[in-house]
Amino acid sequence: MSKKQFKAESKRLLDLMINSIYTHKEIFLREIISNASDAIDKLCYLSLTDDKVGMTRDDFRILVSVDEQARTITVSDNGIGMTSGELEQNLGVIAKSGSMAFKGELDKTSESGADVDIIGQFGVGFYSAFMVSDKVTVISRAYGSDTAYRWESEGADGYTITECGRDGVGTDVIMHIKPDDENESYGDYLQTWKLMRLIKKYSDYIRWPIQMDVTRSDFKETGEKNEDGSPKYETVTTTERETVNSMVPIWQRSKSEVSDEDCVNFYKERFHDTTDPAALIRVNAEGQVSYKALLFIPGKQLLEFMSSDYEPGLQLYSSGVMIMERCPDLLAESFYFVRGIVDSPDLSLNISREMLQHDRQLRIIAQNLNKRIKNELTKMLKNDRPKYEQFYRNYGRQLRYGAVANYGQNVESLRDLLIYNVDENTTRTLQEYTDAMPAGQEKIYYAVGDSIQRSLRLPQAELVRSRGYELLCMTEEVDEYIVQQLGKHADKPFCNIVTDDLGLETDEEKADIEKREEESREVLDFVKETLGERVAVVRLSHKLVSAPVCLTTEGSVTLEMERYFRKMPDTGLEPPKARRVLELNADSQAFKALEEAVKSDRERAAKLVEILHSQALLIAGEELPDPALYAEQVCSLF
Ligand code: ADP
Repeated sequence: MSKKQFKAESKRLLDLMINSIYTHKEIFLREIISNASDAIDKLCYLSLTDDKVGMTRDDFRILVSVDEQARTITVSDNGIGMTSGELEQNLGVIAKSGSMAFKGELDKTSESGADVDIIGQFGVGFYSAFMVSDKVTVISRAYGSDTAYRWESEGADGYTITECGRDGVGTDVIMHIKPDDENESYGDYLQTWKLMRLIKKYSDYIRWPIQMDVTRSDFKETGEKNEDGSPKYETVTTTERETVNSMVPIWQRSKSEVSDEDCVNFYKERFHDTTDPAALIRVNAEGQVSYKALLFIPGKQLLEFMSSDYEPGLQLYSSGVMIMERCPDLLAESFYFVRGIVDSPDLSLNISREMLQHDRQLRIIAQNLNKRIKNELTKMLKNDRPKYEQFYRNYGRQLRYGAVANYGQNVESLRDLLIYNVDENTTRTLQEYTDAMPAGQEKIYYAVGDSIQRSLRLPQAELVRSRGYELLCMTEEVDEYIVQQLGKHADKPFCNIVTDDLGLETDEEKADIEKREEESREVLDFVKETLGERVAVVRLSHKLVSAPVCLTTEGSVTLEMERYFRKMPDTGLEPPKARRVLELNADSQAFKALEEAVKSDRERAAKLVEILHSQALLIAGEELPDPALYAEQVCSLF
């Protein structure tokens, strides 16, 4: 029978496992047992809706057995099993997120050395068996199939799959333990007590009984007497099948029994994250609906979260049985980054995904959980600003995009969680901003740009900041939308420094500008004529201090919104366009040069107009239609 080859990526992982000098090889048992538990979850779930399964909850178990002579450890489950195709697919390639993340991390590190430390932090899955075994045999019979298959591999050179027999549905993973060498006594794993300790340590919370045949010795009275009249004893050994784990899932336990640290460790293992969570939320609710929940706000931006096929949601259990791997209806869109588990005995078990959406109980749970998440974030914002800022860098985007979903109906409730930079190092909530406003400041000034630096350097920012007013630097187009929804904060209106009237000039200054505009009519008309439809209006500016030019807009559509709509999927409708206004600074050197040129050399004047317009576009964060032409125009001035 020919050997099949592992897929290249899997082979690399496998190689690493086989040659591992990692000191915590013992995690292999945790990995194999958690696969067995998942397989039982799947069959148990099926049994809720399918009578043909013929099993009840009490029938499921994981059996760990040892054969010291043959040097094998076998982990047997009566879960869903695998068909030959699934054996090939699941054990021949890196399947899931844990292994993939691990591989990603490996690729970042060098070929040697650094690998070693990261093994234990990931769910590296089935392959970890090869850290302690020189051969692994998997015998599996899938639910609904009469035939079983044997998958066998001695390592990276491939695997075989053959037909075989097995009583009942389920999977046996038989690990042939490596011979001892000078560094490692693999034989220790063949000791029952050692395996029991490992099960307690890593798999105590597994919901299904993990059983072992345990032999115990005891002294028993024989019934006879010694010469001195005392009773005679003999050693009796009995072997009994014992359940080694406590089976109560961590989220079902009380706070006094389970420390926060236990929860953090659970999170890292369960959700394959190497970083401590930024926050842990433990809920034990009784009342209208009873449920327990254990939620985590990840401490870093998860790779998985960034991917376009990220599925948000919490794991949903009903009395310890998982009914949904990811239930998105439990989370508001703003909180899609939250990971965790919800378990409620009040949910009906055989509920379908569609029905869940309309489930009243589920809605109540969701409402409460979202409130708890919000409270937790509010607490973090108040008590640990650097941590909140880090959180905001990781997930602030989700928070805001979630808020505007469904026509912005959640914007209001997230108002107090918004923070914006006012310079590179300082952030402000809206309340902090208005509290810090000097007397006389009537508006909340903001700018939207790709970066904080860019907003601060906007020509319009100079005037605002020169008055000692702070500028909220918004970095996402969605911020503009949020601000429009909010309208005001603490009775102060928001003012986009690019598009809105800053309201900073006196009546005298206004009259002065009007007068100068009349005087410069010829120049302004020339500029408008040269630029044609590219701008709607050309005028002198109230907003500029030293910069010669800026681009602003009139009306309800701003440049940021125009960009936002441009990025949206094509709806077949023409995206709304901003009405652009080019503002010129009559006091600037550039304007004086332009004035001169309009009088004496119209060709040169047209070129200056083009250059100024391009500069205004660049500063506003727009792309130039023809950057090379712009470069040529600038160079021709030398
Ligand atoms: P992961 O558990 O991270 O998905 P593994 O390499 O541990 O990755 O396992 C790969 C896949 O093999 C699992 O997702 C599962 O589909 C299947 N599998 C592993 N062990 C069992 C088992 N005991 N019963 C049924 N399927 C299993």
